[in-house]
Amino acid sequence: MDREQFRKAGYAAVDRICDYFENLESYDVVPRVQPGDVAKLIADEAPEQGEPWEQISQDFDRVILPGITHWQHPNFFAYFPANTTFECILADMYAGAVSNPGFNWLCSPACTELESKATDWVAKLIGLDQSWCNEGKVGGGVITGSASESCLTVCIAARERYLRLHPGTPASELVIVATTQTHSLAAKAALILGLDFVAIETKKEDDWALRGQGLREALEGLEAKGKKPFVLITTLGSTSTGAIDRIDEITAVTADYPSLFLHIDAAWGGVFLALPECQQEAFLASINARAPARADEGAICAGGEVHSFCTNLHKSGLVTFDASCMWIRDRALLTTALDVTPPFLRTPQAQAGLVTDYRNMGLALGRRFRSLKVWFALRSFGVSGFRKHLRHLISLAETFESALFSPSTGVPGVVLFAPRRFSLVVFRVVSTSSTLSGLAYENALNAAVVELANRDPSLMVTPTTVGGESCVRIAIGSPYTQEKHVLELVEKIRGLVDQAREQVDA
Ligand code: PLP
Repeated sequence: MDREQFRKAGYAAVDRICDYFENLESYDVVPRVQPGDVAKLIADEAPEQGEPWEQISQDFDRVILPGITHWQHPNFFAYFPANTTFECILADMYAGAVSNPGFNWLCSPACTELESKATDWVAKLIGLDQSWCNEGKVGGGVITGSASESCLTVCIAARERYLRLHPGTPASELVIVATTQTHSLAAKAALILGLDFVAIETKKEDDWALRGQGLREALEGLEAKGKKPFVLITTLGSTSTGAIDRIDEITAVTADYPSLFLHIDAAWGGVFLALPECQQEAFLASINARAPARADEGAICAGGEVHSFCTNLHKSGLVTFDASCMWIRDRALLTTALDVTPPFLRTPQAQAGLVTDYRNMGLALGRRFRSLKVWFALRSFGVSGFRKHLRHLISLAETFESALFSPSTGVPGVVLFAPRRFSLVVFRVVSTSSTLSGLAYENALNAAVVELANRDPSLMVTPTTVGGESCVRIAIGSPYTQEKHVLELVEKIRGLVDQAREQVDA
């Protein structure tokens, strides 16, 4: 394709994308394809001779769209959302134009300097104080592809910190600690690093959040076994129920465990800190609090405080997948652990200490130019537009919750499983019969609701099981979802619950 062909094809692509959004509601949320259907339409090898662009672009409609699950659809209520915005689609085009891997400042000074500024903007937007920002030169932020990558990266920093405090500790003693509600990213980080993993049980009466007492008992138990817990992965907005670990109580305990690095995975929930009304619920003051450095910690950031924090702008943060922002309070932990500088990567600017080389703050050498879309989106929406979007999502969840549980017009035999967090509502269908009851029966009801829902391609929801109880999650997040969609959802759930009861009772 030459430049003039690109000009024409580019305009046509923008038209096609606009049509897609105009007709978004006409698509099924879940595609009606069976495993292998899409692959059958794709050749087994790349063509020997180049094909005409018209044919290639038509195959987006013919081959790809029929196999797409429409995450932007207003009836997408599964998992957590993955927003996209036009500003970010354009940013990705520009980033594609200058395509460069931005691993050193010199690779593209703009990529590095924008990433530092953009992560500072986001930190300030969600209420993280100056100690998290690049501008303070001690802490700093980086944009990775996923919360899982961010978690793995901070585990490396945490191990570095622990081994500096306790040189020579055998790897077999090191443990990554999380809870039963932590996303699988923590267990996966342990798997990748070849380290032990322990998940602390959380309780229903604590709304599935990690509390100080449970943490203390778990740490004492690990110590008694000679284990060395070096990093704790906590969650602000858990995947199953939106649980928010009690950071206030946790930091009070970790103050007695100064070698323990504390990470917060706020992959979904973090952006809601942009709303002043959510900051207390999410313990922002404790996230920002500093603990006095102790003599036995040397120059390494103190125990009893939060050391790293991650949130995905690509969930509810109006930035097109992918953009996971991760901040660390002592970025030297990362740059020490991850700096491998062969001669061909040396630059005079880095040697003079004038610049950040982002390759030393993450796993990969080359990295996508993600900060451009963050910058475009935040400038275009502004702080007020960003907050308006989040408030809209929360208000839709409130509307859904009130309609579902309305004593007069709601769905009978449905209970809230955990308190609504931000825009996530988790409910459980319970027995309404005097003869049929019990955990297994109710779990079967909930499984049937999800199974029936997922036979209906016009919506998508996901199940979860917490503490042995199965439930249904409704995660509201598409910028295109309106009140009418969540009210229609309540009616669909009414029908699904009736059908599920008939099916399970039969
Ligand atoms: N953490 C939480 C709380 C999540 O809900 C999710 C995914 O939904 C993740 C982490 C994983 O995010 P990623 O796909 O960016 O690794």
